[in-house]
Amino acid sequence: MPKCLLECAVWELTLKCNLRCLHCGSSAGEKRNTELNREQALGLCDDLKEAGCLSVALMGGEPFLRSDFWDIANRIRELGMGLSVITNGTLFSEEIFTRLEALSPRAVAVSIDGARKKTHDKIRGVKGAFEKSWRFINKALEKNLPVSVITTVSRLNIGELKELSELLIDKKIAWQIQTAGAEGKRFPKEYLLDREEFYAVGIFIDWLKKNYSYKRLPVIGAHDLGYFSRFLQDLSLYGEWPGCQAGRTVIGIRSNGDVLPCLSINNSAFIVANVLERKMIDIWNDDLIFSAFRNFKIEEAGENCAKCPKLLKCKGGCSEMSLMKTGKLRNDYYCFRKIEEDAAEGFWDRLKLKIGDLKKRKNSQLAQLRKIFLGER
Ligand code: SF4
Ligand code: SF4
Repeated sequence: MPKCLLECAVWELTLKCNLRCLHCGSSAGEKRNTELNREQALGLCDDLKEAGCLSVALMGGEPFLRSDFWDIANRIRELGMGLSVITNGTLFSEEIFTRLEALSPRAVAVSIDGARKKTHDKIRGVKGAFEKSWRFINKALEKNLPVSVITTVSRLNIGELKELSELLIDKKIAWQIQTAGAEGKRFPKEYLLDREEFYAVGIFIDWLKKNYSYKRLPVIGAHDLGYFSRFLQDLSLYGEWPGCQAGRTVIGIRSNGDVLPCLSINNSAFIVANVLERKMIDIWNDDLIFSAFRNFKIEEAGENCAKCPKLLKCKGGCSEMSLMKTGKLRNDYYCFRKIEEDAAEGFWDRLKLKIGDLKKRKNSQLAQLRKIFLGER
């Protein structure tokens, strides 16, 4: 039996996509030349089961663009593994919902990146995406499917978070908020949140959790939004942060079969194997190829984490965020605790100024957001 339990495989079924999202870390659009074919993909489902995998999240690109999507999704469920589907929600047919219903997925997650059509469509790169995605969400809700909305926050949409929350409250929609990284080729770096803006997103999620019951608005911060803050509650599903799960309970698979400790780590230097060359059970049981993720050594922590009293528990935040900003593992520049540590250098003043600037932009939603932020401090 594997030593680590493979709780979730996140599988990019195809890199082909009908949208062109600015923040897309894998710069999806065209399919990879060497994507797994139907037989290879079905074989991978069997191999994941053999490796003890509990659940599979199918994403893209846009996963519904694969003509064999249903064969793969069915195989996953026939093998008794949980299934989640992450889609941009712009492809619509009655058949999609009938078939999804039959699969009893754990989650059907649709990306919504703005409260307003203009913002969402700008971020998603295609006009009309907002209306299509909402049509998809409403139909999925009608079918009682477990709908989640995933919002990726950048400077383009941070001011619409409050307005977006109002679209989601009391709708039986779970909301996952994450922040944009700068790995994708299309993402203009000036849209990356700075530390104050990043922390403001944390304050906002904390505020939502305090003001709305889980039943009214089940909101969570993704793995990038933590850790061990002195002021903010734990925002992730985990409660207390258990450390990055890449290669420990989570694995990422690209559409050509390349395996990474986590699909968010969008850096080919971290490819550990390919499923066409090794069986998944061998890959997962190979502690050596995952050693940077499974064997934590204090001395590996970078300057942001080395002196942190929570280092042993936290192990240095999200590997993807850490790599994105500092090029190193275990050195998360965007950690809430570290941001608070550095507050002595004028952080709170800069945060207030920045939120004050939002007001000057004469946008009532931004002003509301400002009130939330300032009301908390
Ligand atoms: S400074 Fe590093 S180790 Fe400490 S809580 Fe933040 S990410 Fe974790
Ligand atoms: S790299 Fe980040 S997203 Fe991936 S498992 Fe680690 S904490 Fe989660």
